[in-house]
Amino acid sequence: MSATILIVEDEFAVARGIQYALQQEGYAVTVARSGEEGLTFASGQAPDLVVLDVRLPGMDGFEVLRRLRATGSKAPILILTARDDEMDKVIGLELGADDYLTKPFGLRELMSRIKALLRRAYGDLADAGVGRVIRHGDLVVDLERRRVQRGSRRIGLTPTEFEIVRHLASRPGRVFTRSELLELLRDYEALDQDEKTINVHVSHLREKIEDDPANPAFILTVRGVGYAFAER
Ligand code: CA
Repeated sequence: MSATILIVEDEFAVARGIQYALQQEGYAVTVARSGEEGLTFASGQAPDLVVLDVRLPGMDGFEVLRRLRATGSKAPILILTARDDEMDKVIGLELGADDYLTKPFGLRELMSRIKALLRRAYGDLADAGVGRVIRHGDLVVDLERRRVQRGSRRIGLTPTEFEIVRHLASRPGRVFTRSELLELLRDYEALDQDEKTINVHVSHLREKIEDDPANPAFILTVRGVGYAFAER
């Protein structure tokens, strides 16, 4: 999975260094230069992980953290704290940060923390690479062989249905809007650019993989927003 990472950091050199290192690893990276900007990005893009500097001009990192958690974001958050302030990490962790690094830090250390956080939050999918299999109960989505099974029963999906379940199941709990799904599928198949098309595909998909398509256990509807794969 290519995770989306948001960096909230006003120091240009630090932000660029982190951004570059993450992009080298194949992550999609957005940099916000202030807390306000960070919150705007976070609400629009729902990043998979946030690297948040505590010392920001204007709204500080703690307030950003508080607001992110208050709006229901469950993305792992790694805070960057000042060397001389032990309290920063204590407050940060209490406010819901998942990990912290004290400045100055090495990029290699940061990378390994980020990978560990992603792995903890999203499972093995956080690791790039092939041969990945997603399991949820007895549902198995084999990404490499492009195969879906319930237990030992093989389920035949159309390429579009497979792509939908692949994207959703790759990030359980992450809500995908219909337009986002259309966008993700666009390279794959010439789809009618109508968001209702997605509903039709999802409904076929549910008939194939769900026990009770009317009460789905895997592909959930998030009312007024889109679809999400059930979290374990
Ligand atoms: Ca700063």
